Amino acid sequence: MQKSGVLPSFSLAERSRRSVWHPCTQMQKHASFPIVALGRGEGAWLFDEKGTPYLDAISSWWTNLFGHAHPYINAALKEQLDTLEHAMLAGFTHEPVVRLSERLSDMTGGVLGHCFYASDGASAVEIALKMSVHAWRNENRPDKREFVCLRGSYHGETIGALSVTDVPLFRQEYEALLRAVHIVPAPDTRGESKKASLPKGTDEALQVVEALFSSRADHIAALIIEPLVQCAAGFVMHEPLYVRGLRQLCDRFHVHLIADEIAVGCGRTGTFFACEQAGIWPDFMCLSKGISGGYLPLSLVMTRDEIYSLFYDESLYRGFLHSHSYTGNPLACRAALATLDLFDRERILEKNRRTAQVLTDALDAVRAHEHVRHFRCRGMIWAFEVDLPEPDEAARFPQHFFAAALRQGLLLRPIGNTVYLLPPYVVAEREIDMLAERLPRVLKEVLAA
Ligand SMILES: *Cc1c(COP(=O)(O)O)cnc(C)c1O
Repeated sequence: MQKSGVLPSFSLAERSRRSVWHPCTQMQKHASFPIVALGRGEGAWLFDEKGTPYLDAISSWWTNLFGHAHPYINAALKEQLDTLEHAMLAGFTHEPVVRLSERLSDMTGGVLGHCFYASDGASAVEIALKMSVHAWRNENRPDKREFVCLRGSYHGETIGALSVTDVPLFRQEYEALLRAVHIVPAPDTRGESKKASLPKGTDEALQVVEALFSSRADHIAALIIEPLVQCAAGFVMHEPLYVRGLRQLCDRFHVHLIADEIAVGCGRTGTFFACEQAGIWPDFMCLSKGISGGYLPLSLVMTRDEIYSLFYDESLYRGFLHSHSYTGNPLACRAALATLDLFDRERILEKNRRTAQVLTDALDAVRAHEHVRHFRCRGMIWAFEVDLPEPDEAARFPQHFFAAALRQGLLLRPIGNTVYLLPPYVVAEREIDMLAERLPRVLKEVLAA
């Protein structure tokens, strides 16, 4: 063993391959395809060690809202670092966690009055599921402990969250660990669905939920949905009316509605919360990813005070028994506060409407491309399917596309044959032009292969 533990003759990418187990990756592929070793980030750009720039067109797995190394968020974090970096939240509190809870609650008009904190999205989903079942127990309804999720849904990969996830790739090998759930069809605005079993319409999809609730609501605790866009399902979009219809059914049959806004929240679909477009509030709202501006692991579950009060009692066991060491971390909350400041100061939702129009217009040639199908967008999300000439191309497509995009200086990572753009809100017009110019080149290279 060398004293330093560092082997200077290997590149950073190679040292990573030898020591880091990368997420969502068959590590063997990195025997031939090198990992990209990053040096730094600035604005919408990531730079590798040698300084090669990549436009971060997917906001670093949908987390980054205002670009990398944003001066305002950086300054807030530096100040927080010298004030209070972390302390336990049981029995203690601090300004950033209180302020963040107040601000978020205000943004729901006070309907979702309390915030419970964790560090990652999957944990927020676990919390919402546990809270729902515990709330029903506290209401003397212990039989209500089943969950409903949508076909193709993604809510995270811990065991509880994976149970309400319907993506075969993530589930298959862990099926034996998971609890049974009810899966209902997801409406799909693409009209023609990939699978014939998917009804396209909002009404048909709501009728299935109604039939399920009619027979089973006594046992169902909650329905969980990613409102407006099922992102990891391949950016499957539905009408706000569907979410509205679900709210009505949940009210009628006494089932909790959990809105997983981990990806679609924080302005991504055009409103701060996706639920706003449906004109409803859920019983539980999960946020993560963008809430800290893409800076630090932070997640939270907002809930109604009526539900909160079901836990408010002399008995410890009626309280919500759940904790994570880094619950309400002050640095992460401070990053979130700075992120909310930027929404206000720079009128981001309004600005994004203009950006979205510019980007949609710039993508005219992509939309018209002979191999592009179902071009769609909502807010700051764009997606389309690529028609592959050879069916056996499908398995290799995401990696091919990713590699071809890197060669064009773009960070893009398709899901199956669905290509999507989810740029940070700071993406500038010249960067949009660059994206629009290089995307057809990527398509050309991949389709020629
Ligand atoms: C990313 C994501 C999660 C899981 O969040 P992690 O922080 O990756 O655990 C859950 N739900 C949705 C909708 C997501 O996009």
